[in-house]
Amino acid sequence: MRAVLLPGLGEVPVGKILGIGTNYASHAKEMGSPVGGDPVVFLKPSTALCADGAVVRPPGPGHEMHHEVELVVAIGRTGLRIPFEKALDHVAAYAVGLDLTLRDLQLVAKQKGRPWALAKGFDTSAPVSAFRAAAEVGDPQKVALSLKINGQVKQSGSSADMIVPVAGLICFVSTFMALEPGDLIFTGTPAGVGALKAGDALEAEAAGVGRLKVSVGVP
Ligand code: MG
Repeated sequence: MRAVLLPGLGEVPVGKILGIGTNYASHAKEMGSPVGGDPVVFLKPSTALCADGAVVRPPGPGHEMHHEVELVVAIGRTGLRIPFEKALDHVAAYAVGLDLTLRDLQLVAKQKGRPWALAKGFDTSAPVSAFRAAAEVGDPQKVALSLKINGQVKQSGSSADMIVPVAGLICFVSTFMALEPGDLIFTGTPAGVGALKAGDALEAEAAGVGRLKVSVGVP
C-alpha cells in the first residue's frame, strides 16, 4: 500500500509518515517519559503502511510488538512554516491508525541514544483505516479513541487529551520540513499500550472518523 485515497483528492502517493511520541500525559506516565518541551517527532517509511484487514507482524521472533491507537492526519495542501491558525486548512482527512512499536528495540535505542527507525519503521508498523474528509470530522480534538484486542478494550481515550493539538503539531513540524499532500501524521497514543501476540485480532476505532481491523501474524 503506497497510496492513500483522500476525499476530494483521490489516490495520493504516500509521502512521509510522521509520528509523535509522548503526546498524551497518561501514556507518558505509563512509559515513565518526561512531559513538556517540543514534541518528539519520528519518521516511518512509506513501506510501513498497510490497510484495513492487513496481517501485521514483527520482523522476527523475540520482539515485543506494542499497539498504540492513534488519530492519523492526512495532509492535503503543501505548506512550510504553517501558522497555527491556518494549520487545520492543510488537513485533507483523518483516519484511525496503529503506531506499532517494537518496544524492546525502542528501549535499547532510548538507553543508547540511537534513532527509533527500526523500532517504529518495520513493514506493517503503520496500519490505517479508510480516510474521512476533514470537513465531515469537524474538530479533531473531540475524537474518542479505542482499541480492542480479541474483543477486550485495551485502550480508551480522547484526542481532547493531546498535549500538543493537531494544529500545533502541523505548525511545529512545518517549521522544519514542508508538509505535502499524502504526508501522514500519527498524533500519539493514550494510555493502555501493551504487547501483542500472534493470532490477536485488533479493532481500532476513532469515533466519527473510522474503524480498522488487523490481525497479528507470526514473524
Ligand atoms: Mg505512537
